[in-house]
Parts: sequence; C-alpha cells; structure tokens
Amino acid sequence: MSKNVIIIGSGAGGLSTAILLAKKGFDVTVLEKNSSFGGRGSVFSAQGFQFDMGPSWYLMPDIFEHFYELVGEDIKDHLTLERLDPSYKIWFGEQKEPVSMTSDLKRDSAIFESYEPGVMKKIELYLKEAAAKYNVSKNTFIYKPFDTVFDFIDRTTIFLWTKFSVISSFHKHIAHYVKHPILRKILQYPLVFLGTSPYKAPAVYSLMNHIDFEMGVHYPMGGMTTVFESLFNIAKKNGVKFLFDTPVEKILIKDNRVEGVRAANGQNYQADIVVSNADYHHTEMNLLDRPHRQFSERYWQSRTVAPSGFIIYLGLKKQYDSLVHHNLYFTDKWKESFEAIFDKTELPENPSYYVCAPSKTDPGVAPEGHENLFVLVPTSTDLNLDQQTITTYRNKILSHMRETMDLPDLEQNIVYERIFTGQDFSSMYNAFKGTALGLAQNLTQTALFRPKTKSKKVSNLYYVGANTNPGIGVPMCLISAQIVYKRIHGIKHGRPLSAKDTNFYTA
Ligand SMILES: Cc1cc2nc3c(=O)[nH]c(=O)nc-3n(C[C@H](O)[C@H](O)[C@H](O)COP(=O)(O)OP(=O)(O)OC[C@H]3O[C@@H](n4cnc5c(N)ncnc54)[C@H](O)[C@@H]3O)c2cc1C
Repeated sequence: MSKNVIIIGSGAGGLSTAILLAKKGFDVTVLEKNSSFGGRGSVFSAQGFQFDMGPSWYLMPDIFEHFYELVGEDIKDHLTLERLDPSYKIWFGEQKEPVSMTSDLKRDSAIFESYEPGVMKKIELYLKEAAAKYNVSKNTFIYKPFDTVFDFIDRTTIFLWTKFSVISSFHKHIAHYVKHPILRKILQYPLVFLGTSPYKAPAVYSLMNHIDFEMGVHYPMGGMTTVFESLFNIAKKNGVKFLFDTPVEKILIKDNRVEGVRAANGQNYQADIVVSNADYHHTEMNLLDRPHRQFSERYWQSRTVAPSGFIIYLGLKKQYDSLVHHNLYFTDKWKESFEAIFDKTELPENPSYYVCAPSKTDPGVAPEGHENLFVLVPTSTDLNLDQQTITTYRNKILSHMRETMDLPDLEQNIVYERIFTGQDFSSMYNAFKGTALGLAQNLTQTALFRPKTKSKKVSNLYYVGANTNPGIGVPMCLISAQIVYKRIHGIKHGRPLSAKDTNFYTA
C-alpha cells in the first residue's frame, strides 16, 4: 500500500514536494489554509487588473528548467518566457537621470565606465568569480541536505573557501573592486532577494550578480502566477489532492512519530509522512507541543528575520512612458535605509523601493490603456501600523514616485488600490513577525546554520520552503523540495536530483 503524505501549505515548496512525492507513488494530500494555491505567490484580480501578490522576478531559469525536466514536463508547454530589455531601470537619490540595465555586459559596461573609467576590467574579474561561485554552488552545494557538519566541510566547500571570497562581508568584497557609490549600489541591491543587507551578508552571494548580469531577467506571460498554476496542474495530473480553506491546527504525534494532522474543522487526517510548507516558526510554535519542538521561542527571537513589506497594488487609467517593467529607486541614505529595516522597528524615513509594471510586457494583466503597478517598500518586521500611519506613508511614497519617476498626476489616475502590510503577511500566511520572506540569509542563517528540512525530534516530519535549506525565492523552494525528497529516500549527495535518483513513474 502506498504511503500517505500530508503537506501543510501550497506555496512553491509545498507544490513542488507534492509533485515529487506523487510521482514516486505516494498518496499526497495538501492542506492549505487559504482558498487557493501559491502562498506568497498568490494572485488576485480586481476591476480588470490582475496582480501577482509576491514574486515578480523570474530569475535562475536553469533551476526551473531542471525541475520541470526532472518531473517529466517540458517547461515550454507551461510557461511562455519573455526576456526583458531593459532588465530594469534605476533612479537614484543622488542624481536626476535614471539608468537602464540590460543584463548584456557589452551594453551595461558603458554605464559602469561612465561612472568610473577603467572599472570594467575589475567588474569582469568580479563577475568571473561570481559565475564560478554560482556554478560550483549550483551543482554541489545548494542542493545539499546539510545533514551533518561533513556536508559543510567537504571538497566543494574547501574549494569555494580557498579559491574565492566566501565568508567575508559582501559589502567589503564589492568595495575591493568598485569605488563609485552608485556602482556599489547596483551590485549590492540583488541581496534584497535574499532578505538580507549587503553589510551583513557573506561574499559568497556575489553569485547573485552573475544571475542578474549574465542570466538575464525573464517574465512568464500571464504573470508569475502561471508558474504556480503550472505546478498546481502538474500536481493534480499526478493525483495530488488539495483541500483549501483547511488550516492545520496541530501535527499529531505518537511515540515521537507523526500520525497525521488535525485541521481547524476538527477533522483528523492520517499520514505516514508530514511535510510542513508553513513558516518554520509557525509550525514549531503553533502546530507542535513543546517536547516536539526543536527550537525555543528564545531561539526564534534571536534570529534575523527578512524584511516585511509595505505594498501598494495600483490600477491606473493611464500608462506612463517613463516606467519599464521593473523599476527601482535607490535612496542616497543607503546604509541608513538598511539600518532602518534591520536594526529599528519603524517605517523607513528614506526608503529605497521597487515598482513593477507588468502591463508594460503583458497586455493581459490590465484593461486596455491602463497600467498595473505593484509598489514594494521593504520595511522592518514587527510593525503594527494603524490606518492613519498607513495613509500617511502611502501618500509619502506616491508623491515621491510622482516626482522621481516622472509620473505626473499619479494619484488622480488611480482607479484601483489595495495596501498590504506586515499584519497581512501574518494573517494571510502565518508569517513570523510579518516577514515577507522568512529568515534572512546572513552568514549564521545559511547552509548548515539554517533550520533543517528534517525534524530532529519527530520521525517522518519534514519542512520545506524559504525558511529552510537552501533559502528564499521561488527557485530555492523548488530545490528545497528536492532536498526533502533526498531526505525521505536517504539520498546523500549534494547534486541536483536526477532521473537516476528518482526512477519516477510517468503520469
Ligand atoms: C513581496 C514579495 C516579493 C517576492 N519577490 C520574489 C521574486 O521576485 N522572485 C522570487 O523568486 N521570489 C520572490 N519572493 C520570495 C518567494 O515568493 C518565496 O520565497 C516563496 O514563494 C516562498 O514559498 P514557500 O514554499 O516558502 O511557501 P509560502 O509561499 O510561504 O507558502 C506557505 C503556505 O502555507 C500556508 N499555511 C501557513 N500556515 C498554514 C496552516 N496552519 N495550515 C495550512 N496551511 C498553512 C500558507 O497559507 C501558504 O499558502 C517574494 C516574496 C514576497 C512576499
């Protein structure tokens, strides 16, 4: 008889684990508290606008391709990818003129050289190292289960440590190559994808610049939601059952072994294996009794949590030529803006922010002649904002956007608006302290030091998603699912999962 698996949550990690285990013949049921799949990658529609609620950057196309191929699917049957050109446009607090980056080094080098003549030679060296770090990490490191300390100290890590800057500060690593503050910001900003600050992240993450500058930025037509929709469809095709509006309130355990879960509707669901895709803190502190938890509340309070977000979804009755698909504003109070997010508990006074206008690429996400904007201001966690504060901050951000990004009459052109803050992250996803992304990926919360995919206390209890290995982002969650699969099947190697490892049936 096939084993029953319950997966708590249908985010990227939950959906991809469901597919892998269903393809191996497990009987998989996903219990999701919300009324649809996707977790932080949820979507909503209003007045003819479609809004991706969370992820908007389709990065690391190679990781997606590998996952689809692994589960016997041709990614082209599911996603129509557009390469964005420019990749993104940046406005700066220090200067009026924005710059556009293209992920084409030949074209981008003119921008780099205009700020710091002769810098391209150094940037090429920097990116060569970043590419090597990415390729070594991708094939041997980020797919590791980190079962034991030997996963951390092996030939690959020793190679990485001895050959490249790995654990020194990311900020200092960049400073070694590039002097101009604007160029430093351009190289540092991708760390927001990891929920960390360039002043606190290890230099190994310069691999993010390889992803940014050399792999390009893509967009799946129909929105990021099409990624989640395709994972959901593949899961269903392989027999996965989904129960929506079914929050789990307890993981049932007997003799330190999972027996199933109890949902808030009072019903028990038997399982031989439980995989929690809900946030790690929520699973440990709310779904498990004290003796079955691996970490105390004190441990969680000592963690660095990735930023929360002040998000404004806007439907406009006008299209603005000054915007491209991805737009960024970098404040001139750069260091202070990271301190405001990581060291204080208040809305940042001089924030950097991001504006996504997917209707620039995809006419299907806004009515004709209209624009769909997603405005994200990274903020500290643990904010409890009242309506007055929300309104004041919203006005401040919109007026800054209007002036800086050349968006005349912005406020007058709004026909739809919704604001989403840390409180919403907590209530919608059970996010710890209202974090948008989970545990930050700083040195002490990476690899061996991140909460593990397998419980040390309870047999057959696993964790998947952004809070565990390898970390934050949709592609990382696809890898996290492969690590869980390896754990369940006793596969020890650190390489991407392959057909040789899985021996799947064909759906
Ligand atoms: C604003 C924003 C922008 C982002 N931008 C990008 C980007 O551009 N590119 C990128 O790759 N990544 C991006 N990310 C990160 C990425 O979205 C996440 O890392 C990833 O989607 C997290 O997936 P997950 O598997 O950890 O699960 P989650 O998405 O966290 O899903 C967990 C699921 O568990 C459910 N759940 C919680 N508690 C229970 C319970 N008790 N019972 C049942 N179900 C429960 C939740 O409802 C949720 O559906 C962004 C995230 C945010 C919020």
